[in-house]
Amino acid sequence: MACRICGSGKQQEFAAEINIHFRGLKNIDNPSVLAFPNILVCLSCGSSQFTLSETKLAVLAGTAENMELSRDTPTSAGESLKRADETAA
Ligand SMILES: [Zn+2]
Repeated sequence: MACRICGSGKQQEFAAEINIHFRGLKNIDNPSVLAFPNILVCLSCGSSQFTLSETKLAVLAGTAENMELSRDTPTSAGESLKRADETAA
């Protein structure tokens, strides 16, 4: 499979541990989510990809939903998560 970013065929899979944090000082009390996915790294451009388990997705979605329900201004969790998605692409 070729890299989706640069088209290189030089990709390798690694074991990884990833600690996912909720952004912003107001989320300092939200625990991070620790995951151990296999990560596919392009050895030409560094682009990497992995898939989280359904369990980890549920934790992220549940915490994000609670953040949405508790937000008191239009500029909070939703926009923060959107920015995180954009930078991950
Ligand atoms: Zn690449």
